[in-house]
Amino acid sequence: MFRILIIIAAALLLFLIIKNRLSSRSRRQKKTTSLKTDDMVKCLQCGTYIPRKEAIISGTENFCCQQHQRDWDESHSHRS
Ligand SMILES: [Zn+2]
Repeated sequence: MFRILIIIAAALLLFLIIKNRLSSRSRRQKKTTSLKTDDMVKCLQCGTYIPRKEAIISGTENFCCQQHQRDWDESHSHRS
């Protein structure tokens, strides 16, 4: 009976070591995927998706080009 307890304890310890190793590996994978940020933003004027670093950002709005930013501003400004 005592021998079974030792085997169970050893198995549990081994399980914890493997689990620890797997979780640290997955944590490292999450880090690399977060570094690869190729998030896309949508142009408010034409709806085209462009990479955030290439987008024209004005406040909370994103545009694919300055022309579309101007077009959107013109069609949404109430000052004339
Ligand atoms: Zn656009």
